[in-house]
Amino acid sequence: MQSGAADALAVVHEHILVCTACPLHARRTQAVPGIGPATARIMAVGEGPGENEDRVGKPFVGAAGNVLTKLLESIGLRREEIYITNVVKCRPPGNRDPEPAEMEACSSFLDAQIEIIRPDVILILGRHALARLLPGSGGITGLHGRRVVRGDRLYVPLYHPAAALYQASLMRTLEEDMLKVRGYLDEAEARRQAPAAAAPEPSGPALPAEPAARDQLSLF
Ligand code: URA
Repeated sequence: MQSGAADALAVVHEHILVCTACPLHARRTQAVPGIGPATARIMAVGEGPGENEDRVGKPFVGAAGNVLTKLLESIGLRREEIYITNVVKCRPPGNRDPEPAEMEACSSFLDAQIEIIRPDVILILGRHALARLLPGSGGITGLHGRRVVRGDRLYVPLYHPAAALYQASLMRTLEEDMLKVRGYLDEAEARRQAPAAAAPEPSGPALPAEPAARDQLSLF
């Protein structure tokens, strides 16, 4: 079963590596599909590859990647146990923002990655990933650090790690939000371990991103 997921993920990666669906492919050194185990319980989704990622073929390997690694480690997570990817898999020239058409062209890949991995929680890194994964749910300023349920998925929007490189005060916010993530994960683990009848309810309400998702609140 699990090797089936790993195989399916490998197939998605192969498709990404040869994708020519949008103009970003023309100027890439290589596409950056994502990295991490198909068994990951946590997925992190950033914006798009930068110069270092384009060169190395892996996401979050530059300065923002160092921030991400430290944030994960601050709550006892090893980077290797997280599946990390981006909304767009090819570098936007000059690190400009990805355009809506480019995000749309790449969307089936991200959808497939989420569907195969089925993580307990998806960390949304920054406003572009937020717009792609939770359209219409509001801005990052209001949502960062909060649990958002949509469909059968649970998300936690966070400021982009690169933002902390330019605005030092955001690092503190990111660290505080990561502590909340730790709490959400601990609750999920407790619920998984507890006999169904004795499982504690989530200590705080998850924020439904759309009314139809209200019945999913007990998922996490
Ligand atoms: N590196 C990535 O892979 N993604 C980002 O969003 C930023 C840096």
